[in-house]
Amino acid sequence: MKLVVATRNAGKWREIQAILEAPGLEILSLRDFPKAPEVVEDGATYLENARKKARAVAEHCGIWTLADDSGLEVDALGGRPGVHSARYAGEGASDAENLQKLLRKMAAVEPSGRGAGFRCVLVLRHPDGREFSTEGELRGDLADAPQGTGGFGYDPIFRPTGSDQTLAELSAEEKNRISHRRRALEKLKALLRSIREDGAALSTQG
Ligand code: IMP
Repeated sequence: MKLVVATRNAGKWREIQAILEAPGLEILSLRDFPKAPEVVEDGATYLENARKKARAVAEHCGIWTLADDSGLEVDALGGRPGVHSARYAGEGASDAENLQKLLRKMAAVEPSGRGAGFRCVLVLRHPDGREFSTEGELRGDLADAPQGTGGFGYDPIFRPTGSDQTLAELSAEEKNRISHRRRALEKLKALLRSIREDGAALSTQG
């Protein structure tokens, strides 16, 4: 079975690939489909954005497509940046610029008020219209300065609950064991397995 992950974010693709890896599953990226459409992520929710990406890419590529939309929700900011996490400091902003803007906004917030959560919504879509979605969350709090060099995005300032290290200080394996993306992907794994088994059964019958 072939599955394309509808993202141009190399950090996300690496994580999804490492978590989903399974015999009989070939995981492609948009690098394999250079002409795939650019999707404007202007939805009001993660689900709207993930659906939009999954539908456009599934139609273009003609195979099972997995789209992820995710973000960081900060309690003291009423859930912002949320769905706008990738462009918090403006259209085309870098991870470092987004992170610095968030640290400025949080400068006056006491340690007890620095709670936050990463949320990930996944949409799995087939060009024939079959569609499934799942969600995962990881709670933690925000450090007051970046620590660590791993991961991507806001990882250097996010400490998962119970950890004194940021996600960027953990190894890729440690992050992938607990992340919001992992939690959402776990819910899809059994489904992917049954789709693969059905496909294999159909091809041996035919
Ligand atoms: P989008 O899903 O492509 O709209 O972008 C999600 C944005 O949320 C990323 O660019 C990051 O800024 C942030 N984000 C999502 N997941 C993670 C993560 O696992 N670590 C750090 N930042 C993340």
